[in-house]
Amino acid sequence: METQNKLTPDMWVTEKHKDSTAMSFRLKQVLFSEQSPFQHVCVVETEALGKLLLNDGMTMVSEADEFVYHEMIAHVPLFAHPDPKRVLVIGGGDAGTAREVLRHKNIEKCTMVEIDEAVVRACREHIPSVSCALVDPRLSVIIDDGVKYVAQTQEKFDVILIDSTDPIGPAQPLFGEDFYKNIASCLAPGGIVVSQAESVFHGKELQESLLKILRKIFKHLYLYNYSNLTYPGGLWSFSFASQNTTPFPKELIKKIHNSHFSFRYYNPNIHYGSFALPNFQWEQFQGLLDTPAFLPSI
Ligand code: SAM
Repeated sequence: METQNKLTPDMWVTEKHKDSTAMSFRLKQVLFSEQSPFQHVCVVETEALGKLLLNDGMTMVSEADEFVYHEMIAHVPLFAHPDPKRVLVIGGGDAGTAREVLRHKNIEKCTMVEIDEAVVRACREHIPSVSCALVDPRLSVIIDDGVKYVAQTQEKFDVILIDSTDPIGPAQPLFGEDFYKNIASCLAPGGIVVSQAESVFHGKELQESLLKILRKIFKHLYLYNYSNLTYPGGLWSFSFASQNTTPFPKELIKKIHNSHFSFRYYNPNIHYGSFALPNFQWEQFQGLLDTPAFLPSI
């Protein structure tokens, strides 16, 4: 944190992971640096990855690879759901997830509950390529704790996306059982919840504890992977949970085709293929997960 406040051009910003590995990005300039009540929020321009948002020194979003994360968190559930109209995003203050959600014209309302207004302000001011959805009239931004919001709201949602930081500080309860019991009661019939589910390389225990909680509450539970440039270890996952909707409706490919969307990462093969887990991950979690229907039962 100390170095964050003293970032200067031509420095390197380094994200350390468990004090055992690190990743560094050479800076061009520091665009935003502020200590909020929740975290240190920083936006820098890097030599290699464009603009980069860091919360407490952890990479959140880079212009170079954000399309991977935001396409995968949004389009897998939105094409899997029969007719999504109302979406809830917990966290996601950069609004990249909201941007991808609101490409779907059938979405009537997207509610984004972000605890830290400094994140929204920093991204609105400095990363417009990601935060452009903030002007969409269908987006409702609520600056509040997502834990409190889901415990109190009476609204029902077709898709809920947990776009949170790692389980540190205010994000810690977003990985807990009470939170997901409230999420389950906020889902409309057929609803889906997709969560940022960490990395099997660096966060196997985190991934396991999240899946154990989801398994207790939801009838269907899957894990799907993506790889990007900036998150430590490169192989990260989302969890997909629902009482009665699977990720593979028979009309999936037709829906994706008929959307006429152009994607930079997502496509029908990626949709299916991302659920095919590498052996070391499948062996670790197979007791907790549904076997993806398209995979031959081994
Ligand atoms: N894609 C990023 C990742 O995978 O780490 C996350 C992006 S977004 C910037 C994460 C956001 O979650 C942060 O802005 C943080 O302030 C927010 N957040 C953390 N705990 C929260 C809570 N309890 N309620 C609402 N937002 C929260």
